[in-house]
Amino acid sequence: MKRLVWVSAAMILLLSSAWGRTGNAQEEQAAAITADGRQLAIVIDDFGNNMTGTEEMFDLPVHITAAVMPFMRTTKQDAEQAHKKGHDVIVHMPMEPNQGKKEWLGPGAILTSMSDEEIRKRVQDAIRDVPHAIGMNNHMGSKVTADERVMRIVLSVVKENNMFFLDSRTTFKTVVPKIAAELGVPLLSNHVFLDDVYTMRHIAGQIGVLKKHLESNDVCVAIGHVGAPGKKTAAVLKEQIPQLKEKATFVRLSEMLAPSSEKEVIPNP
Ligand SMILES: [Zn+2]
Repeated sequence: MKRLVWVSAAMILLLSSAWGRTGNAQEEQAAAITADGRQLAIVIDDFGNNMTGTEEMFDLPVHITAAVMPFMRTTKQDAEQAHKKGHDVIVHMPMEPNQGKKEWLGPGAILTSMSDEEIRKRVQDAIRDVPHAIGMNNHMGSKVTADERVMRIVLSVVKENNMFFLDSRTTFKTVVPKIAAELGVPLLSNHVFLDDVYTMRHIAGQIGVLKKHLESNDVCVAIGHVGAPGKKTAAVLKEQIPQLKEKATFVRLSEMLAPSSEKEVIPNP
């Protein structure tokens, strides 16, 4: 309970200062906290390339956070539509993985072999390319998010743009919590990947993991995807939303923010 009060105070501070949202921050914050104080944010990755499930995700009866890849065919269209429907928009920044093909990264990706200047330019260009973006998370990135030099540059640019970072946690070796705390960048971390396996059964099982997480935590961030699993993930979410609403309040990431030092580090389930 003590922690919740602390988080609430931090949220009021953040909402009223960093983003200058309209309305009374205190009222907004009060409305976002349920009786038992739990918050659930659904983040959907890989928008920007007219991916399968895009409409279904935007039409879910709750607010989500849309992670949109820069420099793609429908980057601007998807970001505009998400914003119009009241969802948060963040930049889904392509970052080099330890394994996997470079083609999967998409344009403008960050590689650990790049110079400081090149990394800075790519992050800045990506932010400019995605309209309405208020934060950033990583697409892939198991190699980059474990690299202190690279993440220090990425997070510096994030901070200069008054944005927050969501660590997708594609590696246990992530240095993001350390560097974000050092630089004072607001940080959130992914707790549950919903659809690594593209079956209804697996996705429903991950909703079970999410519910379990909420039994012992005040906040839960869950990441799903448009693309191959898109329609399935959207269908499972749509069906589960009434039940999930009994356990937590659906929030956008901007409503869940607390200083990085307050966020516990929980490995992916
Ligand atoms: Zn992705």
